[in-house]
Amino acid sequence: MSTAERVRRINPSPSTAAAQRVRELKSQGLTILDLTVGEPDFDTPDHVKAAAIRAIEAGETKYTPVNGTPQLRAAIAEKLRGRHGLERTDAQITVGGGAKQVIFLALMATLDEGDEVIVPAPYWVSYPDMVRANDGTPVIVDCPEPDGFKLTPQRLSSALTDRTRWVVLNTPGNPTGAAYTTGELRALAQVLLDHPHVRVLTDEIYDEIWYREEDTTSLAAVEPRLADRVFLTNGVSKTYAMTGWRIGYGVGPADLVTAINTLQSQTSSCPSSVSQAAAAAALTGPQDFVQDTVRVYRARRDATVKLINDVPRLNCTAPDGGFYLLVNCRDAIGQFTPTGDRIQDDEDFARYLLDSRQVAVIHGAAYGAPGYFRISFATSTDVLTEACERIATACADLSATPSA
Ligand code: PLP
Repeated sequence: MSTAERVRRINPSPSTAAAQRVRELKSQGLTILDLTVGEPDFDTPDHVKAAAIRAIEAGETKYTPVNGTPQLRAAIAEKLRGRHGLERTDAQITVGGGAKQVIFLALMATLDEGDEVIVPAPYWVSYPDMVRANDGTPVIVDCPEPDGFKLTPQRLSSALTDRTRWVVLNTPGNPTGAAYTTGELRALAQVLLDHPHVRVLTDEIYDEIWYREEDTTSLAAVEPRLADRVFLTNGVSKTYAMTGWRIGYGVGPADLVTAINTLQSQTSSCPSSVSQAAAAAALTGPQDFVQDTVRVYRARRDATVKLINDVPRLNCTAPDGGFYLLVNCRDAIGQFTPTGDRIQDDEDFARYLLDSRQVAVIHGAAYGAPGYFRISFATSTDVLTEACERIATACADLSATPSA
């Protein structure tokens, strides 16, 4: 039995593959320090769980409207109003089984064969494969570290063609934590205003896990003239430690939202009713969970950035948001391990850390960032400290020539 061409074009997510490898090693009795995790290590807040239990007891266990419950859509509209001053109608909002599904359906709703999607690199691993799965062509635009890992107007201009359908902007980003300032978004908007056939997909899933004083900004708010071309996606997974509840949302022009709803009606019918009740409680309830966890993430970020920058051959910049560090390991590439193997690339380096020191990280090439690896600090300070010590030892064990 053969699988369809569209499946053969894509790969399983490298983070899922890394998690699987960690599970295998653990099942062999090894203690692995796992820095691959892409989800908060906190439990969902109690008041959110209580809302879900109430929903079950109240019989909210049936199909909901395809685009989500009115309560959740109202909560999303309120969040956009409060955070960005955006006024969006009910018809411009849709809810799906995670931001991932919403993004997938947005691409499915708009791409025909050969349509191009500009994906700035480093990128979240799923974008290029989601584009390919929907017959599109990802156009990867390298955004190097000196540019803050961010797309510049010049690079955007050079990548745009008549076939461009979307530009993806993930801010704050996975795996870099980089976020666009209002000025940077305005400069990109200036370019986009001249290309009316191009839409922008903003993925703002880490917008609340944020370490700077000034709030994150959103392209939809920065440039109202792009309002009918921006599709803003977000969700509750990261902010409220709700990855398993599978609720994300998309906000954009009504015709696009209607097309997504049509696809959703023929795939899942609607997102989970109980999870939607929980997500509405998360968005409208007390926000101290967010403040408390961001305080913890910030302390871990600061400690881990310092530990990594103390390791010869490694360096990283402190991310503005999210819970990942993208660590530059170029100076370790070309070196020899104590067993005489030459580290050829970041994938070899990640494997070396795992095999020699039982520290699991994800190699940068998976994110379009060769020469780097990603650390998640959604884990305890103890694990982070121990892992950084082991990474330091692994680096100290490298040498410029194979040992005799
Ligand atoms: N967007 C980015 C940048 C992510 O890192 C992730 C999760 O890793 C998602 C979207 C998916 O979020 P959700 O759990 O809402 O599908």
